Amino acid sequence: MLVDSHAHIDTSRFDADREAVIAAAQAGGITRMIDPGCDLASSRAALSLAKAHPGVIFAGVGTHPHDATTYSAEVEEQYRALAGEPEVVAIGECGLDYFRMLSPRETQREVFCAHLRLARECNLPCIIHVRDSHEDVIELLRAHGRDLRGVFHCFSGTVKQAEECLEFEGFLLSFAGPLTRQGNELPEVARLAPLERILVETDSPYLVPKPLRERRNQPLFVRHTAEKLAEIRGMTLEEIAQATTANAVRLFGLDRYATDNP
Ligand SMILES: [Zn+2]
Ligand SMILES: [Zn+2]
Repeated sequence: MLVDSHAHIDTSRFDADREAVIAAAQAGGITRMIDPGCDLASSRAALSLAKAHPGVIFAGVGTHPHDATTYSAEVEEQYRALAGEPEVVAIGECGLDYFRMLSPRETQREVFCAHLRLARECNLPCIIHVRDSHEDVIELLRAHGRDLRGVFHCFSGTVKQAEECLEFEGFLLSFAGPLTRQGNELPEVARLAPLERILVETDSPYLVPKPLRERRNQPLFVRHTAEKLAEIRGMTLEEIAQATTANAVRLFGLDRYATDNP
């Protein structure tokens, strides 16, 4: 039993077989999935998916840093309304992406701060995207987010960066496909992070874990990242599943929902 804490199931790459992908995940023991929005349209799409799969799919609402220029007071008002729906369990994804820099840096920073305010106002955790922007994310969180909770999704930084992230007591690190690849410090990070501060995710349809050769990632494959995590920490898959599921349930309040899921 695993939770895929970050899967863009609403994207068009699942249009042809979305229901089959969800069913395959459930059959494979992925009992719950969180679909974070990237803009207003995808936040709405994530929420309708969540409504169609109660207790199985949950939604985040927010604007990805790539799309920061689409954020506005009107969009924020819509997010505020959507956040009142019981299936919405997070604000995000939000954050800073200086790798692709699809929106200007200053806009990204302003929009990220707006999400932090919204998370506080709605009392929801935030899902944070960080790419080549660790220092700015930490700076803005220190200034505006010390009291918040959330997750650094698809964590892919260094040991030192992980330690800085973990200084925010309400925040967890989430591991994705990059943990299964070579040439990074993630195994060391995965060994050091406290068991109660880690999550697993796919970031579907991106970041297919090794050794799979598929072109498209899907929630079912979160198992590969969990297996890698278990191997690194010298634990069984069941122990990792239990811990990361409990962490996801606690962070996102998934137990507020009456479901048949254990
Ligand atoms: Zn992301
Ligand atoms: Zn994402």
